[in-house]
Amino acid sequence: MSVRYNAFQLFKHALTGQRWPQAWRKAEPRRSYDVVIIGGGGHGLATAYYLARNHGITNVAVVEKSYIGSGNVGRNTTLVRSNYQMPGNTQFFEHSLQLWEGLSHELNYNVMLSQRGQVVLAHGPVQLDVLARKGNTMRLNGIECELLDRGGVMKLLPYLDYSDDCRWPIYGGLLQRRAGTVRHDAVAWGYARGASDRGVDIIENCEVTGFVRDGAAVIGVETTRGRILAGRTAIAVAGHSSQVAAMAGLRLPVESHILQAFVSEPIKPLVDHVISFGAELFYISQSDKGGLVFGGHIDGFNTYTQRGQLPKVQTVMECLVALIPAAARLRLLRHWGGIQDMTPDGSPYICATPLPGLYLNGGWCYQGFKATPASGWTYAHLLATGEDHPLAAHFQLDRTMKGDGLDEYGLGNWTWKQ
Ligand SMILES: Cc1cc2nc3c(=O)[nH]c(=O)nc-3n(C[C@H](O)[C@H](O)[C@H](O)COP(=O)(O)OP(=O)(O)OC[C@H]3O[C@@H](n4cnc5c(N)ncnc54)[C@H](O)[C@@H]3O)c2cc1C
Repeated sequence: MSVRYNAFQLFKHALTGQRWPQAWRKAEPRRSYDVVIIGGGGHGLATAYYLARNHGITNVAVVEKSYIGSGNVGRNTTLVRSNYQMPGNTQFFEHSLQLWEGLSHELNYNVMLSQRGQVVLAHGPVQLDVLARKGNTMRLNGIECELLDRGGVMKLLPYLDYSDDCRWPIYGGLLQRRAGTVRHDAVAWGYARGASDRGVDIIENCEVTGFVRDGAAVIGVETTRGRILAGRTAIAVAGHSSQVAAMAGLRLPVESHILQAFVSEPIKPLVDHVISFGAELFYISQSDKGGLVFGGHIDGFNTYTQRGQLPKVQTVMECLVALIPAAARLRLLRHWGGIQDMTPDGSPYICATPLPGLYLNGGWCYQGFKATPASGWTYAHLLATGEDHPLAAHFQLDRTMKGDGLDEYGLGNWTWKQ
């Protein structure tokens, strides 16, 4: 059991050389488990935690090919929100935001939730209508939001470009005050510690290289540290979903692409909200250390490298300067890439696969970080009960084959059904 973090422990360790015990046990693989989760990212660890916490299932291993936090959970731009419009998404992401709101307390680990509010900007009257419609859907689902006119945005975000000849005039925006940021690697560490405390084995440097089969059924995994048998085997490898599923002979409707993130040199507090540019996919916030943290679209070709391309750097910088002209004087400190698991309709999968014993969590596209708590919650339910959780019932593998996509970004499904 790890030490409980509190003011007394802080004081004690300050006086005794800050020798904190390990946050989670470094477990050795055992021969078999009730559940083996492949992937020690946010989703795998949250799933293990909620399997133990909600269902009392602790004979669980999380096998991670590298170290905890090495994947996208430690590479993202940390934005969390629940401003979704499609049935199937609204309540799922709202549940996630509610779990974020209690997570530091729940895990006894400060995940640094900062509910600074997110504004999605409209750059034309039609776009403002679309945001109004989204806001109405949210409110009908009990999710707060406010529609802002141009004056309202100016008051909140005075440093944006409101000049007469600006490239993208601002007509208004949709504000969700409960949206914000969360310290991403603290989420991985907090869930790892919470799961380990409840008896879950977290096995790092253990790559899954194949599946153990009994006919069609999957009964375990082959790893670089030997064979591990499992009652249920759960994939949660994000950008490597298709690669890992292919080892079981499954071809997933998932493509892997790079998404880059960028950080500027630190400046005094300026951007005290999260802002989404409406003219392109571009989002920005400011970190506690002062750097502007921002990102845009995926690079747009399939790859497993974690290094971004220069043309996308240029597009993203153009968005930054179009939105905040003063940022043109800043220097870019660093940028990096992560492998995103993109699906045809932009929505994820949390479901059983056609192979008995094998389950899938993946296809998270741009929204995997904010989904982490609800994803773990609902995936754990599926693994424990064999039944889809009602909040994740839409996230089935065959939905695109049935023409029933959940296209939140293009709202394609919505328009087909009108
Ligand atoms: C630059 C960037 C910015 C982003 N910004 C946001 C954002 O602001 N908000 C948001 O909601 N989402 C964002 N995302 C998306 C989000 O980060 C991901 O969707 C989410 O983190 C994926 O889930 P995960 O945390 O479980 O993935 P990961 O942390 O990638 O975990 C998967 C793990 O599986 C392991 N693995 C892979 N193959 C194997 C194997 N064969 N055996 C064992 N282990 C294996 C990997 O090593 C990895 O640790 C962003 C993504 C990127 C790249």
